[in-house]
Formats: sequence, C-alpha cells, structure tokens
Amino acid sequence: MSVLEDARAVLAVDGVCDACLGRVFADRSHGLTNRERGRALRTVVGLEDDAEPAYVDPEECWVCEGYCAAFDEWAERAAAEVEDVEYETYQVGTRPPALIEENERMLREDAGLDADAGERFKSEFNREVGKRVGRLTGTEVDFDRPEVQFLLDLEDDTVEAKVNSAFVYGRYRKLERGIPQTKWPCSACNGSGRQGREPCEECDGLGYRYPESVEQLTAPVVEDVMDGVGATFHGAGREDVDARMLGTGRPFVIEIEDPRRRDVDTDRLQEDINAFADGKVEVEGLRLATHEMVERVKRHDASKRYRAAVAFDADVDADDFAAALEELDGATIEQETPNRVDHRRASKVRTRDVYDIEGDLEDARTATVEIHGAGGLYIKELVSSDEGRTTPSLAGLLGVGAEVTALDVLRVEGESEPFENAAYFRD
Ligand SMILES: [Zn+2]
Ligand SMILES: [Zn+2]
Repeated sequence: MSVLEDARAVLAVDGVCDACLGRVFADRSHGLTNRERGRALRTVVGLEDDAEPAYVDPEECWVCEGYCAAFDEWAERAAAEVEDVEYETYQVGTRPPALIEENERMLREDAGLDADAGERFKSEFNREVGKRVGRLTGTEVDFDRPEVQFLLDLEDDTVEAKVNSAFVYGRYRKLERGIPQTKWPCSACNGSGRQGREPCEECDGLGYRYPESVEQLTAPVVEDVMDGVGATFHGAGREDVDARMLGTGRPFVIEIEDPRRRDVDTDRLQEDINAFADGKVEVEGLRLATHEMVERVKRHDASKRYRAAVAFDADVDADDFAAALEELDGATIEQETPNRVDHRRASKVRTRDVYDIEGDLEDARTATVEIHGAGGLYIKELVSSDEGRTTPSLAGLLGVGAEVTALDVLRVEGESEPFENAAYFRD
C-alpha cells in the first residue's frame, strides 16, 4: 500500500492528532517532525477527497492523551531541575505510561498496519523534549556519555536529573613519609572512631589509621571547587605508606560526584590544592579528563624508578657490590607474594624485569641503589630476598642481610606510551 493509503487507514480511526498520525510514518521523509508529517498527510488526504481536513487538538487525542502538546512544558521542567548546574551535554530518557504504549498498538492494529510501524512514542518524546532542552539551555545532546541525564517519568509526573561525575587528572608528589595514598579506616573501630561509648584508643577517635592521606590532602579541594557531593581518588598504582613519591610524580584522577561546576580553572585548582596540602603533597599538570581516564590510570602498564637506602648487616666489599648489581641489571626476578603483603591473598610466584640498576656503596654497611623496573616489582624484597622468596636478590647475591631503610619512587611512566594522551582530556 502507498503512504497515502496507509494514512487514510489511520485517519479512518477517529480522534488522532497530527503527531500521532505522523509517528506511524516516522521512517518517511526525514527532516520533518511527526507533527509536520502528520499534518501534511492529513492535508493531502483532504485535498484528494476534496474535504476539509479534521485537525485534532493533541489535548483531545486518545492516543497520546495530550502528551504531544506537552513537549515545551517537560523541557522547561527538565531545564529548571539543573538550573544551578554547569553542563554542556545531556540526554533525555522517557518512561511513558503503559496506557500510551497500548494506545499506539491499538491505533496500528485498527488501521491494519504493522505493530511496529513508524517509531515509538517514547522515541519522539525523547527527541522533541531533548531539542527543546538544548534550545533552552544552549547545551548539546550526547547519546554516549552526557554530563546530565534526564529521566522523564510521565506516569509519576516527575523529572529526575542525574549529574554525571567530573574528572580531574594530575600527578602527585608525596614529600613526607607515613602518608597512605587513600583514606585508611581504622580496623579496630571500623572507621567509626569509637569503641562503645569511648573514643577508639587505636586511632585516638579519628577513625583512620593515619591522620592524613594523599586523597584527604587533595580531593576535598576539588570537591569544594566543583561543588560536588563526594570524591574518589584513583591512583596509577600506589607506593608504600613509608615511601615518598618524588620526581615527576604519580598519575591520578579525582572523580567528583554530582558536580555543579565542571569547567574549573585547573591552574588555580592546582594552586589551591598545593596550598591546602601544605608541602606534604604537591600536584602538577592538572587537566580536566574524561571518565575513561579512570581506567587509563588504573590499567595502563607503567614502569617505576626507585631510589632505596640500603643497610647491610655485615661488611660488603665494593667489588662484590658492583658484581651483584651487574647480575641484577636486566635480570628477570621471581617473587613470591611478599610476607608483608595481605596474607589473605593467595601466594603466587610472579616474574618482573629489572630494566636498570645502579648503586653507590657509601660505606661497608650502607648503600644507595636506584632501580628502574617493570610495574609490580617489589623493591624491598629485591633488596632483602624476603627470606628467599625473591630470587635473585641483592641480599642473596651478596650473602649478607640487606634491608631497605628508606624508599623513594622517582618516576612512574607508561610502558608503551605516556599516560597523558589527548583522547583522555576534555580541554
Ligand atoms: Zn496524539
Ligand atoms: Zn579506631
């Protein structure tokens, strides 16, 4: 059948507005709204029949029950919902009343057409309200990862706006020892800071095993500037609590939930964080990032460069020391899960390469060693042998006890390419 014959069949079902008529032919003549399409068909059928077209007010339409006259109203409600939120992209989703979807099926059935002819009411509602939201707010639709997601529940007569997280990338240096990367809740009181009615003795009522963390010295500033309601710190691995993070720093992403501001001045943010962290932690290279940057910093393979101060429990000869380093240079190290690592973790052997190692024997009992190794190489154990669980090791090769007395991470670098890739930035 031709479009016109089909349109005539739909028009034979009385009381259908232009949009509901046009929606049955939504796959024809792109660039028209369903309302324009429906009106054109109704007019042409009228011309053919030499009869006055009987236009139906959407308010009187039994199919959409007036919803096709309510696009503006819903768009205004959606825009009002996020009036005080800064965003550039959005997406509209609609939950239509079951009755409307049933009406749509009935209309097609009564007209003798396919049950899925044209498009669904829901698609039109999303699109028409979406266009209007864009016009009202000067923002753009994004079907992939919008900054704001609207849910229009027609049945409940509610508009919900979900503001998606914002992300800030940077690199941090930790200039003092004894600071964990993220909040470390006290295990004695489960982070509550109390034991019964008394303050927890283990953590002095603080709720945390350490009073500060890199997260606590940085994330609250970002949360405050972006006016969010929560923050999560994602690091590209982590150094030990007692190790410093120096040099070019470690990549991280701070995720801010439900932010009202997202296009913040990152130079200023950097200054604010550094002032807040008071010399204990420093951040640099801050940039606005996409949500994919979280996985990027967590999964991207990275090599690390360390500097370790080493103490020996017996005198070490300079030639032996040099020979041991030569042995380790470029070696593949087998490491059983270290004793100090979480005992609940199943013990397994893994291999990691030492790319480069250099050292300086300061006296017979102390040395400084710089190691560039693959991500996941346990440095303290490479030095101490961890009771023979790491081979080869500096202690093993020298035949003396060796221990790292201070550890600094100097560099964290992507193995295949740098962490900083334009695809992951918003600026
Ligand atoms: Zn209608
Ligand atoms: Zn406690």
